[in-house]
Amino acid sequence: MKQETSSTITIPRKTFLRLNGYREPMPVNEIMMFSSSICGDASYYVCPKCKVTLEWEFMDFCDRCGQKLDWKGCKKAKIIYPGTQNAPAKNLK
Ligand SMILES: [Zn+2]
Repeated sequence: MKQETSSTITIPRKTFLRLNGYREPMPVNEIMMFSSSICGDASYYVCPKCKVTLEWEFMDFCDRCGQKLDWKGCKKAKIIYPGTQNAPAKNLK
């Protein structure tokens, strides 16, 4: 009996990324809080690797750098605020 098999090989995207490294999930543990007088407050989780804000919650991988994300600790994420480096610090005379 002859069994024919298709030789099509498809590599799932996750496997592809895994082969490229980034296989260890990094915990998402920061959340960026934006305050807006128009829309109110908005918060976005931050990629632990490249520090960009993530467009969607609970994505498997970072859009930008492909880092695998671990959302287990996201409820305890530390709130950070944008622009802390160039915050208006001292009053100029
Ligand atoms: Zn990233």
